[in-house]
Amino acid sequence: MSDSLAQSLTCIECGAAHSLTYRLECERCHGLLELRYDITRLQKDGPALLQGAGLWRYAPVLPIGDPAHRVTLGEGGTPLLDCPRLASELGVRRLLLKFDGPNPTGTVKDRSSATAVGAALQFGYRATSVVSSGNAGSSIAAYSARAGLRSLIFAYERASAPKLLHMAATTTDLVIYKGVYDDLISIWDRLVEERLFFDCGASRNAYKQEGKKTLAYEIAEQTGWRPPDVVVAPVAVGETFIATARGFRELREAGWIARAPLMVAAQATRANAVARAFRDGTAITPLKIGYTVAEGLAAGNPGKKGDWVLRLLREGKGLAGDAEDDEILATQRKLARVEGIWAGPTGVATLAVLARLVAQKLLDPAQTVCAIISETGLKTEAEPPSRTGTAFDHDSLRRLVTERLA
Ligand SMILES: *Cc1c(COP(=O)(O)O)cnc(C)c1O
Ligand SMILES: [Zn+2]
Repeated sequence: MSDSLAQSLTCIECGAAHSLTYRLECERCHGLLELRYDITRLQKDGPALLQGAGLWRYAPVLPIGDPAHRVTLGEGGTPLLDCPRLASELGVRRLLLKFDGPNPTGTVKDRSSATAVGAALQFGYRATSVVSSGNAGSSIAAYSARAGLRSLIFAYERASAPKLLHMAATTTDLVIYKGVYDDLISIWDRLVEERLFFDCGASRNAYKQEGKKTLAYEIAEQTGWRPPDVVVAPVAVGETFIATARGFRELREAGWIARAPLMVAAQATRANAVARAFRDGTAITPLKIGYTVAEGLAAGNPGKKGDWVLRLLREGKGLAGDAEDDEILATQRKLARVEGIWAGPTGVATLAVLARLVAQKLLDPAQTVCAIISETGLKTEAEPPSRTGTAFDHDSLRRLVTERLA
């Protein structure tokens, strides 16, 4: 039984359509592949095709045909929060935050892990692997465990303690690597060809990327199919950005929405290869990068996906920007204080970039803007506030309460 409307893996370079097997690039030209669906059915049946809750509500537009392969930990269906106080601080008319912190492992990665591990089951693999700065590793490990698969997780030596703890708890095999993501990913990506494990990396796997497309579907559905004017998405390798932009394009082709939002790509300044190329109007020059507090954005060489992001930005008249680590940390504190949303530095980079673009008058503030907040703050490693305690009696407690709340 299958209610997936996926029809082909189509090359984004030459347009060749391939059958729905496990393949990572076009045989003709080595271009990246994207999934294509039965748009006529989507047009005809409309949102009535959607059933149930969470990520698998969107199963008709995901590439996992057999319900038995739809591994879940309860991902997706995250809130879209209207944030009027923060909007007025930033000076935008209306601000919506798509907060992906409530996902099972606390990040947007659970969307792509659900379809990646689902595809690993679909194609009969018994092991998965990924190179990660922390979030992808804990998410792939958790979903692999849930599906009864082995996972070989390569984790960044400077990943936060909560992320490492989470990975160690869920994976069958944890390996800590030296250097940043880029140092390992190019050789690991070559090893993928030997098919010793299912590719859960961000570079090429169209099945994995597809799970993140549900961000666009959820934002559209949560706004009554009238999506915001602008959507700000984070970019490391580009999977989240591409999937979201493609989701909105698909929704427009299907006639579920009238207009796709303008897309903004957000990066950390310390890993801003895409934003820099966009600004300079050039091709991407890979960067040698070090540590950024936005750990999940620490990719200096986004490869072919980076080129795809640039193409989508230029075709869709989008924007790109970056923010410094100190701006990102200040934004993290502000979001917690002003709206009660505790997100990690990687997760708030979009908001820091949005603030910059508005301040620089590159973005019209008289619009409805949605920023994707891609992770919880609970995996952030930082010094806790002072733990020096105070003992109270009735009088001193009463004095303190009246003083503090005066
Ligand atoms: C991985 C990650 C991203 C973006 O990465 P892409 O490879 O560009 O999709 C954004 N936010 C968080 C929290 C992440 O873990
Ligand atoms: Zn091709």
